[in-house]
Amino acid sequence: MEPTKYTQFTTDEKKLIDYAKEKILEYCKKRKSEGLYDTIYAFILSENDQIYEGTFLELPSGVGFCSERAAIANMILKETEKAKIKVLLVACPVPKSLDKPLTPCGACRLAIEKFGTEKTTILCSEFIRKENGWEIFPKIWKFKIEDLYPFPWKDPWKEL
Ligand SMILES: [Zn+2]
Repeated sequence: MEPTKYTQFTTDEKKLIDYAKEKILEYCKKRKSEGLYDTIYAFILSENDQIYEGTFLELPSGVGFCSERAAIANMILKETEKAKIKVLLVACPVPKSLDKPLTPCGACRLAIEKFGTEKTTILCSEFIRKENGWEIFPKIWKFKIEDLYPFPWKDPWKEL
């Protein structure tokens, strides 16, 4: 399936996009002022209309974890593991706008499937550091979890 670049969004998606834009700018400015590079952020709008955030945990030996799972853990902290994702947005810093979406890794797809529904939308975007600021979300790609993870892993003793 060839991914589609979307310009039409639901009210919920717009709410998360606007929130994420503002927050990414805030976090990027802070990191730049500390002499740091830009990093990856994930945002979730839960079924309860609460917003959660996460960033990439980078550790030596590759034992860190991704922004999407960090945001999901924050959602679980507040709402328990009964929480569901309505919209998830992940945004990655890039040197220039890409022709293809940067989508969640396999581990994150598993987590999104577990805490999502068939209606959950996954928005994948990017942002670019420029001389006078940042260009945030020059394009946004939209998926359902079924597009990214059509045959999800299930515990055969519990879920099949
Ligand atoms: Zn991941």
